[in-house]
Amino acid sequence: MKIKELTHEIREKSLRKIDKKSPRELSASWFGEDLLYSGKGNAIFIILPTTGCAHALSESGGCTMCSYIADSPLEKVSSDELIDIFKNSIERHEIKPKTVVKIFVSGSFLNEDEIPREARDEILKLLNKEENVEEVVVESRPEYVNEEVMKACCSLIPDKIFEVSIGLESSSDYIKEYKINKGFSNEDFERAVNVVKSLKSDYKVTSKAYLFVKPILTSEKDAIEDAVASAEYAVEVGVDRISFCPATIHKGTLMEVLWRRGSYQPPWIWSILEIIKRVRSSIKIPVIMDTSGFGTRRGPFNCKKCNKKLKNLIIESNLDQSIPDEFDCECKVKWEADVEYSDLSRSNTLLSDKI
Ligand SMILES: [Zn+2]
Repeated sequence: MKIKELTHEIREKSLRKIDKKSPRELSASWFGEDLLYSGKGNAIFIILPTTGCAHALSESGGCTMCSYIADSPLEKVSSDELIDIFKNSIERHEIKPKTVVKIFVSGSFLNEDEIPREARDEILKLLNKEENVEEVVVESRPEYVNEEVMKACCSLIPDKIFEVSIGLESSSDYIKEYKINKGFSNEDFERAVNVVKSLKSDYKVTSKAYLFVKPILTSEKDAIEDAVASAEYAVEVGVDRISFCPATIHKGTLMEVLWRRGSYQPPWIWSILEIIKRVRSSIKIPVIMDTSGFGTRRGPFNCKKCNKKLKNLIIESNLDQSIPDEFDCECKVKWEADVEYSDLSRSNTLLSDKI
C-alpha cells in the first residue's frame, strides 16, 4: 500500500471516532517567554480553529505525523466567528512590551478557504493597533504564499514584522515524499521564500522554516544528519529563522500506528542536544528547538533522571541562542549505542498491507 493511501485510510478511521467539537471549544490561547528578533520578549499564542488543513482533508491524507485535523471543527467557520474568537483570545492576555503574537490555525493562515479574507484582514488590523506587538507570526503551506496575498497582509501591519512559517520538515525531497507525505517539494518551498525575500525592501516581512526531527522509518543517526543538513539548506534558501519540531506521537497518525507496533520511537533528547550543538555553531540565524512533549511517553525521551533538567537547559538556550553546557547521565551510553548501531531492520518491516 502506498503511503498516501495509508495515511488517508488511517485519517478517515480516526476521524470517524472523534467527538465533534465547536470552534469555540477548540480554540485556545496561552503566553510565555520567547525570543524575538529584538531579543528576549513575550509571546501570546492563539489557536484559531479553522475548517482544517486542505492537504489533510484531500485524498492525499496529510502528513504522517500530524493530527491537527482531529482538532479542527471540520466545517466552515464564518469570518465573524473567527474574528470573535480571536478578540476573546487576545483580550485574555496583557500585551506586555516586546510581544510576538503567534497565530496557529488548523492548516494555513494564508489559505482563504480556511481563513476568509475578511477575517484575515480584520485580525491583522486589530494587531496593527497594538503598540506592544512587535511581530505577528502565522503558518502556511508554500502554495498559499504569493505576492498578492503577502502584499495584502503586509500592508495592513506596516509597523510590525510579519513572519510566515513554512513546514519544510526536511530538505530531502525523498523524506518529504516517502516518510512525511508532505505533498510539496523543495522547489515549492524555495518559490515561497523567494516571494518573501522579494518584498523585504518594502515591508518588514520574514520567513521561518519548521524542521521535523525524526520522521518515521528514520534511524537515530539519520535523523540527526537530516536535521542538520535541512537547517543548512533552509539558511541557504534564505529563511530568517528556524524552528525544530522533534517528533511526538499524535493520535490518529501513521506514526502512532508504527509506534504501537514497536517500529518507531521519538528521538532521544541527546540527539536533540547534538543537533543544537552542531546547528548553533555553524548557523548565524536564530534557531529555536521546540520542547513540547519532552520526557513524556509519546515525546522525545532520555531517562527519568535527566529528562527535566535537559528540557530546561534547552528552553533556556533558546532564549539566548547558546549551546547548553556539557552534561552527562548514565543513559548516554545507550543513546550512543543507538546512534552507532541502530539500523532500520525493525522499522523497515512496516509498510505492509497489514497496518
Ligand atoms: Zn539520563
